[in-house]
Amino acid sequence: AEKKLYHAEKLSAIGEISTGVAHEIKNPLTAVKGFVQLLKTEHYHPYLDIVSKELDNAIATLTNLLQVAKPDLENEPSVSIHLTTELEALLSLFQDQFYRVKVETRFYHEEQSIIGKKNLLLKAFFNLVKNAFEAIEGDGQLLVEHFYKENAVYVKISDTGVGISQDKIKNLGTPFFSTKAEGTGMGLTQVYNTIHNHNGTIEVLSEVGKGTTFAIQLPCGN
Ligand code: ADP
Ligand code: MG
Repeated sequence: AEKKLYHAEKLSAIGEISTGVAHEIKNPLTAVKGFVQLLKTEHYHPYLDIVSKELDNAIATLTNLLQVAKPDLENEPSVSIHLTTELEALLSLFQDQFYRVKVETRFYHEEQSIIGKKNLLLKAFFNLVKNAFEAIEGDGQLLVEHFYKENAVYVKISDTGVGISQDKIKNLGTPFFSTKAEGTGMGLTQVYNTIHNHNGTIEVLSEVGKGTTFAIQLPCGN
């Protein structure tokens, strides 16, 4: 059971709505947090520490969402990115997982660079690799492929993880969609937004119990 997916348009509508809602909620929460701080100095109660900490969590989530939904694209200049070098560096960040996950890279056309917003693109690839590691329970394999074809670069990230069922695949990229206990559901939102903003495409191929491939295509020029 394989399924392809591309839904950046749907996302931008959801992004608009959630950004508006996030602002509306973040402002009063920030105000409440200020008053809790004041209360703590005047009438200290240990529960106030819990209230304060939970407010911090909620505010951090909203800040994260606002960053993801409305990335500061104007401020980050487009630069030349040598993806092979960057992907190698990125994978090394997951070294503590190498004892259980066998990581393989297949890089063709290693000299090829693309033009893009480096921080946003690397964050997107980081989010995909992180999900791949998280999808693998126990032992497994991660394959990162990178090649060039018809004036576009491709990055494919394949894992032998739990896979994604048909009914969930349509939800990928929707803000807050997560099947993880500690998940934020914002990683793929950042990925879809960033790839869309670079005029690229994303394809997902997944089979439950077998694994998942995220195939990213980015035009070289931009
Ligand atoms: P989070 O990782 O916080 O849950 P993401 O937006 O990164 O949020 O991912 C959303 C959901 O998509 C995950 O909770 C998971 O169900 C699914 N998913 C994403 N990548 C993979 C993958 N490589 N294998 C299996 N499921 C995945
Ligand atoms: Mg994630």
